[in-house]
Amino acid sequence: MKILLVDDDADNLNLLQEILKPKNYQIFAVQSGNDAFSKTKELEPDLILLDIVMPGISGFEVCQQIKNDPHIKNIPIIFVSACNDIEDMTEGFRLGGVDYITKPFRKEEVLARVHTHLQLKLLIEEKTKLIEKLDQNSRTDSLTGLSNRRDLLEKLNYEAKRFERSKNPFSIILADIDNFKAINDTYGHGGGDYVLVELANLLARNSRDQDIVSRWGGEEILILLPETDASGAKYLAEKYRKLIESHNFHFDGNQISVTMSFGVNMVFSKNDSNDFIEAVIKRADNCLYEAKKNGKNQVVYLHEVEI
Ligand code: GH3
Ligand code: MG
Ligand code: MG
Repeated sequence: MKILLVDDDADNLNLLQEILKPKNYQIFAVQSGNDAFSKTKELEPDLILLDIVMPGISGFEVCQQIKNDPHIKNIPIIFVSACNDIEDMTEGFRLGGVDYITKPFRKEEVLARVHTHLQLKLLIEEKTKLIEKLDQNSRTDSLTGLSNRRDLLEKLNYEAKRFERSKNPFSIILADIDNFKAINDTYGHGGGDYVLVELANLLARNSRDQDIVSRWGGEEILILLPETDASGAKYLAEKYRKLIESHNFHFDGNQISVTMSFGVNMVFSKNDSNDFIEAVIKRADNCLYEAKKNGKNQVVYLHEVEI
């Protein structure tokens, strides 16, 4: 792990380096507050031992600079100073320091404090990664790897808020596999699952970066198209429809013919209704129902409707 030592006094730096040498840390050292900040940004060390009293920029000021920079603000800082009065110590903690070492250095104490804070940093990083992974899993459909309903609803809410501010329209496409029950009946549940995964990959591969393709329910896909008007949404739905119709779905030596029906709704105005999102989805669902009723494998869209 990387440790950055900051002290204007070369003897102090040498002493700290000697103390830390037996441990396999990568040690870096700078002798001014100015260099401390730039070196921290460049190096992103795991721990900083920061002298308080230095000519020019003090250790307290360096700490503030670091805490104000989102990229490096979580790097733990241990203050190092000759003065051990309680006010200095508490000021160090107030500014976000995690610990305080006083001079003259006691070897065992320096080693113990450095070890403790490096361990804590590792633990926090592991926890953060775990939370990110859990969060990611909670938003992902396990079969297809697409966004799930929860994730889509969150993004739809965000889009609705953005729409209220900007009045830029957005659109949604609700799509449903045609005769999926028959696919399950003919090729088994494994065949149905294969179609869902293959279809999800096909849509994900062919969607724009800003669009969110989600598994809305069993064999229903909801696509959120930010800043997209009716003609754009219609065009995309038609593109997806053709893509699926002409794609080769191969399962267990069989060629499965797969089509989808699409309901498209552009959102361009809003009344005071509380269930705005629900209404938006309902309208796409009505279109989807029309598409099914009219013979499936087609796109139906809403136009010129005040919401
Ligand atoms: P339509 O063309 O009107 O949409 O008819 P459909 O057969 O596609 O629709 P229906 O609602 O009758 O049947 C949907 C089927 O999808 C029933 C359900 O068991 C199946 N299904 C839902 N989720 C999954 C899944 O994760 N895997 C598999 N293999 N089947 C699923
Ligand atoms: Mg000093
Ligand atoms: Mg269906």
